[in-house]
Amino acid sequence: MNEAFLPFAVPCIGEEEINEVVNTLRSGWLTAGPKTQQFEQEFSTYVGMPYALTVNSATAGLHLALEAIGVGAGDKIITSPYTFTATAEVARYLGADPIFVDIDRQTFNIDTKKLAHALATTTGIKVISPVHFAGQACEMDTILALAKQYQLKVVEDAAHALPSQYKGRLIGQFGDVTAYSFYATKTVTTGEGGMIVTANPEYAKRMKIMRLHGISRDAFDRSSSSLPSWYYEVVAPGFKYNMSDIASAMGIHQLRKAEALRQRREAIAKQYTEGLQGLPLTTPYVAPDNVHAWHLYVIQLTLEALKIDRNLFIERMKMERIGTSVHFIPLHIQPYWKERYGFEPEDFPIAYDVYQRAVSLPIYPDMTDAQVERVINATRRILTGALR
Ligand SMILES: *Cc1c(COP(=O)(O)O)cnc(C)c1O
Repeated sequence: MNEAFLPFAVPCIGEEEINEVVNTLRSGWLTAGPKTQQFEQEFSTYVGMPYALTVNSATAGLHLALEAIGVGAGDKIITSPYTFTATAEVARYLGADPIFVDIDRQTFNIDTKKLAHALATTTGIKVISPVHFAGQACEMDTILALAKQYQLKVVEDAAHALPSQYKGRLIGQFGDVTAYSFYATKTVTTGEGGMIVTANPEYAKRMKIMRLHGISRDAFDRSSSSLPSWYYEVVAPGFKYNMSDIASAMGIHQLRKAEALRQRREAIAKQYTEGLQGLPLTTPYVAPDNVHAWHLYVIQLTLEALKIDRNLFIERMKMERIGTSVHFIPLHIQPYWKERYGFEPEDFPIAYDVYQRAVSLPIYPDMTDAQVERVINATRRILTGALR
C-alpha cells in the first residue's frame, strides 16, 4: 500500500482563472482596477446586495465593518469561541472586547438561547457577530430579532458561507455587514482575499475610504472634470486593505462556479454521511432551513466507545496517507484569549467537548468518488480496530 498522500485541502482552479490572471498580467494594470470593479459588480448581483467591496482578507473586512459601525474602546462584540481567531481579534484592533457564547452541539453555531441570556445580562454590547460554521447558516431569525430588541448591529463572519442559504435566501442578505473569505482553502478563492457586502450606504462609504488609507474619492466623484488626476484627500488614518486585479481576475471565475463547486462538495458530503454510518462517530447535521456550503465536513468521534483519542485518530489517518484537520481550537483555550480573560476550558463546555471529538475530513470539488471512498474505508478500519 503506497498510495499518494491525499491532501486535506486543494483549491479548484480552472483554465478560466489561469487565462484571466495571465490577461491581467499582460494588461499593464495590476492593482485594484477594472477586474476588481467587475468582481465587485458581479458579486453584488450574485448576493443581491447593493454594495460589495473587495478587501485583501475576511479579517480586513470584519475590521472595516466594526470600524464603520463605530465600535471603539470599551465596547463589546458577542460571538462564538468556536471560530478562527480573526472573528474576535478585530474587536481588539479597535480596543473592544469579544464576549463569547457557547455553541450548539449539532450545528457548531452560536447557541441562540445562551445568546439571549448573555444579551439580557451583559452591558456595552454593540455587535452580534455570528459565524456560519462550515457553511451552515446560523439561526438568523432569532439573531435578527435579538439584534432588534437590544438595538445591536449584526456583522456576519461568512468566511465559510459562500454560497449558503437560510430559509431560501443567500447569506449576505441578513446582517448589517457580511464578510467572506477567499483564502486559499475556502469555498471560493483568490489566494488571499475577501469581500464585504452591505445595504447601508454610510457603512459602504466609510469602509471604502478606510480600506485605502482614508483617501476620500468624493472630491473626484463631485467634479472629476475640474480636479487634476493626481489630486486626492486624506480624511482619516485608514488601512491598506484593497484587493489586486490579479486576485480579482481569479475571483470573477470562482464566483461564477460557486454553486457548481458547492454541489460537488454536497455530493461528497452525502457520500461520506452514507459511508460512515454505523461507526462510533456523529456525521454533520444539516438544519432543515439551510443550504449548506460544505466548506468543512466535521465528524465528532464517540470517544466513550473508543480506545483512541482524536489526536491518535489523526495520526492513524496520516499513516493511511490522508490529510485531516481540526476546526477549531476554541478561542477560550488559546493562550492570548485565555490569559486576557482568565478563561477555563469548562467556561464553554460544549465548545470544549466538541473540540476534543472534532475531525475535519477532506472535502473539495476535485476529489474523486474513489478518494472519498478511500477516506471512508480508512476511517472505518481505524475506528473498528479501536473499539472498546
Ligand atoms: C478563514 C477564516 C477567517 C479569516 O479569513 P481571512 O480571509 O484569512 O482573513 C475568519 N473567520 C473564519 C471563521 C475563518 O475560517
